[in-house]
Amino acid sequence: MDDGRIRGHRRIRGAREGTGTPWKPKKLRERQCLGHLRWLRYFGTAVGAALVGTVAGPALSPAPAHSQTPRVTVVVVVDQMPVHLLERFDDLYVGGLRRLLDEGAVFTRARHRHGIPHTGPGHATLATGTHPSAHGIVSNNWLDRATGAWTYAAGDSGHPIVGGAGEGRSPGLLERPALGTHLKRAHPGARVIAISPKDRSAILTAGHDADGAYWFDAGTGRWVTSAWYRQELPDWVAAFNASGRADSLARREWTPLRDDRAYLRSRADEAPYENNGEDTTFPHDAPAARQGSGWAPGFVATPWLDELTLDLARAAFDAEDLGGDATPDLLWIGLSAGDFIGHAFGPWSREVQDAMLRLDRALGAFLSDLDGRLGSEGYVVALSADHGVVPMPEWAHAEGLDARRVDRESLTALIRPALDRAAAAEGVTEPVLAQLAYTGVYLRLPGSLAADAAGRVTAAVAQALRNHPRVADTLTDAELAAGTSRPFSEAFRRSRFAGRSPDIFLLGREHDLIAGPGITAHLSPYDHDVRVPLLLMGGAVRPGRFGRDVATVDLAPTLARLLGIPDGNFDGAALEEALR
Ligand SMILES: [Zn+2]
Repeated sequence: MDDGRIRGHRRIRGAREGTGTPWKPKKLRERQCLGHLRWLRYFGTAVGAALVGTVAGPALSPAPAHSQTPRVTVVVVVDQMPVHLLERFDDLYVGGLRRLLDEGAVFTRARHRHGIPHTGPGHATLATGTHPSAHGIVSNNWLDRATGAWTYAAGDSGHPIVGGAGEGRSPGLLERPALGTHLKRAHPGARVIAISPKDRSAILTAGHDADGAYWFDAGTGRWVTSAWYRQELPDWVAAFNASGRADSLARREWTPLRDDRAYLRSRADEAPYENNGEDTTFPHDAPAARQGSGWAPGFVATPWLDELTLDLARAAFDAEDLGGDATPDLLWIGLSAGDFIGHAFGPWSREVQDAMLRLDRALGAFLSDLDGRLGSEGYVVALSADHGVVPMPEWAHAEGLDARRVDRESLTALIRPALDRAAAAEGVTEPVLAQLAYTGVYLRLPGSLAADAAGRVTAAVAQALRNHPRVADTLTDAELAAGTSRPFSEAFRRSRFAGRSPDIFLLGREHDLIAGPGITAHLSPYDHDVRVPLLLMGGAVRPGRFGRDVATVDLAPTLARLLGIPDGNFDGAALEEALR
């Protein structure tokens, strides 16, 4: 397993990297070179052969570039942005979203096509242009059959946090090269940076070869990285941490940006099912003023988190000299405030509306800065989201939809006796375990159990779940493997990865939420969870509104086309109509 985790590429040193990243320890580099062989099937024969050459010999010569290859490509991933947030507030957007909508290529029918729309899979899908069935990040956490342990998508005890404490992190479980990896193959010297408050968002967009991936330690209010990328926090990140910017933002009270009338398109501010019933209305106290442990509790669930993230991105531009020469650079920016706020308040809350209005303004200022640095034709910006979200079921029910909050314990109660009976019928005397994740069931059956007997036990548990009135369907791994074509089977098949995905995929009903009270979430392949914005803007982009069905896997190949990346073996296809 360990070999499988350490498989990044050797860094290709660019001309501008003289003061940059320290080399990794020689031992690690040697092991990474072995890792190159694993990539061959992904890069195709010609590129793969050249790639092996880079282990011992000279780097690849630059690939032919698009005639308008941008000096910098900025990809903004908004965490939790169902597409209706773009549509509902269209007339209120005056900043960055306004520019993207008016001057960009707007894909109005974009969606994630995989079945488990968590943060990890969403970011990995955007970054690799492949589905979870290829990149392996099936959800945020999964039961690893090889180790028997619950595994975090960006977890890696072998690569400690740099600049903070806690469990190590790396992209070691990402099984496909990210766009940044392709970029560095095609353009030696390209800089690739990812910044997001969430570690998995930064790491899974940065990929294996990035010059840096930085995320926010909400316990200390400081930005950190992993030893996978660097042995020390770079000076510019340390300086940003010492600047007091986070502390100053944490002292800001959160009041609505606009007057009351602007929020009439969202529901009333007061709702008992918001935020676990606490602090449900404006104004919200400054995070630093709240009682609690750790650094400024609740800071991440304010719009100030996005401002802080964009400020760090500005610092990255200066320190890493992004766009400083003709070699194209890539910057991923994950904006996570909307997710923390959205889980707590729901997508029809005034809090989420206000967060979107503020994101629009902050993004507008950021794009103006890019204009100043690079000229409006000198960069390309793309914006999408890792997933949507289901409205608070209590609100949806009151609005007349057949929506329910489904208690996870009631589902677990169905599993246990069915599992015991089915196991006993197969002569199993040792205890067997089932764990109901929100999106499926993981069984721990004895290794001695024959495959057909294990199949019967799994089928019995799946049948028991289907007896629940709010379960629309279950799809077992065996059914998906056999090619069943029931509704959403394709989506679940795209979230299927051997050894990581559930034994039984669970499909609730549209608008339902399998979760405890006081929050909402994104757990299903229904439109509310998978339809997201997809916009591009910049010198090489043809503006317009495009209404055909497209997928989030199409973003990476589109950017690859702009960046002169010859072949990424993507699941998606370039959005040609958006390119000049
Ligand atoms: Zn997310």
